[in-house]
Amino acid sequence: MSEQCDHNCSSCAQSQDCTEKNNTPQDFLKPPHEMSSVKHIIGVLSGKGGVGKSMITSLLAVSLKRLGYRVGILDADITGPSIPKAFGIREKAAITEYGTLPVKTKTGIDIMSINLLLPKDTDPVVWRGPLIGQIVEQFWTDVIWDDIDYLLIDMPPGTGDVPLTVFQSIPIEGILVITSPQELVSMIVQKAVKMAEMMHIPILGLIENMSYFTCPDNGKNYAVFGESHIEEIAAAHRLKVLAKLPIDPSLTAACDEGSIEFYVDNPLASVAKTLQQTKGEQNMKIAVASENQKIAEHFGHCRNFNIFQIENDKIVSSTSVDNPGHKPGFLPNFLHEQGVNVIIAGGMGAGAIEIFQEKGIEIIIGASGDATEAVNAYLEGTLKSTGSVCQDHKHHDECGSR
Ligand code: ADP
Repeated sequence: MSEQCDHNCSSCAQSQDCTEKNNTPQDFLKPPHEMSSVKHIIGVLSGKGGVGKSMITSLLAVSLKRLGYRVGILDADITGPSIPKAFGIREKAAITEYGTLPVKTKTGIDIMSINLLLPKDTDPVVWRGPLIGQIVEQFWTDVIWDDIDYLLIDMPPGTGDVPLTVFQSIPIEGILVITSPQELVSMIVQKAVKMAEMMHIPILGLIENMSYFTCPDNGKNYAVFGESHIEEIAAAHRLKVLAKLPIDPSLTAACDEGSIEFYVDNPLASVAKTLQQTKGEQNMKIAVASENQKIAEHFGHCRNFNIFQIENDKIVSSTSVDNPGHKPGFLPNFLHEQGVNVIIAGGMGAGAIEIFQEKGIEIIIGASGDATEAVNAYLEGTLKSTGSVCQDHKHHDECGSR
């Protein structure tokens, strides 16, 4: 290896006896299960444990699912598997004669984790590194990842031999690096960034978790873990900062209760859209509960649904579908069958909200005015859900309760 080595073998004219060149990671790639079909594989990496890597992997999976993709999570964090808990999964993975089947979450995200195989999820994994590495490899080679658009890998923390095995054996397309503002973590995250660079895997961006805490009493932000260094790290490695997440007790509660799938105002929604753009895929359907062209006040009793087809953040076509009639629980399923990913409405009943959440459809409520303008505002990121739910008022039934 020459002193000027930038670890980019593809552009290097070094002779074949370069040890670095002969050890390029692609040599160790393992084939997936023959019944698997996976389009994109994204690794979620952190320099150390406890910075929120698993929570961010989960939220990102939920956001991608809400955009209409088929999503899987390969939990490669064998010694600290927290993905099944965040989704409230209690059943075990089925081992069939064809291969191991992931467990589906309530909205249909495929999950494989060591905790889905262990008899008790409190059993510790006291195995040495090579064995742990083999298990992760098997999660790739022996599990049937059926028709997955995005497979997210919750990487083992750190830069040791297990993440190295994952990088070498699974064809990861890109990496998201998660960090928190502590100086110590900043130093360690640079190791993670350098590791990804050495493995020739593109880093899609950095996400800073636990950036600040917003005091509910005075609305001020406090840098609980110290001032952020994320912009400096990003500049030093010419990377993008994709998101900064606050410390939010409701996120902790959602992970603990197993309800991360139904977390409203998902802070990873914009990162999912960025990923879509990076992969050149941005198709989605947005439905607006309307009175002709105006947003209806009450979801269940709207006159029609204006359904907009979106490509690359632009409306490419729209159709109006008459409200087929309000029966409790019917309309959310009807819109799901139309392939809708986002619903915009005025008021909506708690029952309808629940069904949309179960289907992984993003809900924007409290909107008013022109339907097309609202969709454009949503695409620009300026239309936010007020979260206003029609309950216990005279329109209760009209708003789509179960
Ligand atoms: P890692 O995968 O990096 O080890 P986890 O995702 O398991 O970390 O997160 C550790 C704990 O911190 C979990 O209980 C999680 O719910 C909580 N947590 C992570 N990020 C946040 C946040 N932004 N606000 C509140 N709690 C968080």
